[in-house]
Amino acid sequence: MGKIIAVANQKGGVGKTTTVINLGVALTELGYTVLLIDLDPQSALSISAGVDVAALPRSVYDVLIDADVPIRDVILSLRSRLDILPASIDLAGAEMELMAEIGREAILRERLEHVRQEYDYILIDCPPSLGLLTVNALTAADGVIIPLQSEYLAMRGMQQLLQTIDKIRKKVNPDLKIIGVLGTMYDGRTAHAREVMDEVRTVFGDLVFAPVIKKSIRFAEAPVANLSLIEYAPDHEGAQAYRQLAKEIAHG
Ligand code: ATP
Ligand code: MG
Repeated sequence: MGKIIAVANQKGGVGKTTTVINLGVALTELGYTVLLIDLDPQSALSISAGVDVAALPRSVYDVLIDADVPIRDVILSLRSRLDILPASIDLAGAEMELMAEIGREAILRERLEHVRQEYDYILIDCPPSLGLLTVNALTAADGVIIPLQSEYLAMRGMQQLLQTIDKIRKKVNPDLKIIGVLGTMYDGRTAHAREVMDEVRTVFGDLVFAPVIKKSIRFAEAPVANLSLIEYAPDHEGAQAYRQLAKEIAHG
């Protein structure tokens, strides 16, 4: 039974998408079979994985909106052991369209039941909001990874995210765990970044993953080549850090 992990933070540009693709590829290197789900209308995950989103006949939007669309028909194979359920801009309308549905928080969870047994891990890339798409991801998930940019105001908004997780536990998904908090875009040369990570460790303690993802321009280069950093620059320390994260996830 695949473990479902949502990568969420309503703050934009903190490394959610980068974490999903690199963690996904790192898990396949460990021999696991992985499904990536793009739940962001901006479709950054799909685009950076090389999916031609404008030409997609169907996407995660159709799967959510129409129970008769088989999820398997929409999933694409990216590499050996790595699949994606892609997004397209249609998804921007899904939150409004799903508002009137009964059990609207649990639609993704219900759809994933059909494929869950085919994967070891299902990683969901959330949009930068706490709307119904993120709520669907957190309702479907066994656990959540929270990437936090190691910069000023990183903790701003965390209270809101934690409250959302708490509400989802109380109402629909009592077993939802915070798997961990991942420091991203860390610039260890600045005292400021070190102070931010110290504060994050004070607040979250053992929930903070040991690997911290350093800031590097290579992360922005990899998607241009439709690759994860792990494939683009296998020996880069950012690639090593995501491999370390994959090991922590697999062993934890
Ligand atoms: P959004 O909220 O818009 O979906 P996000 O949280 O998914 O954003 P990413 O898209 O993963 O964040 O990252 C934002 C930008 O920062 C991208 O251009 C990405 O390539 C770059 N980036 C990601 N991780 C790092 C890093 N460790 N160092 C430098 N740049 C990074
Ligand atoms: Mg993103």
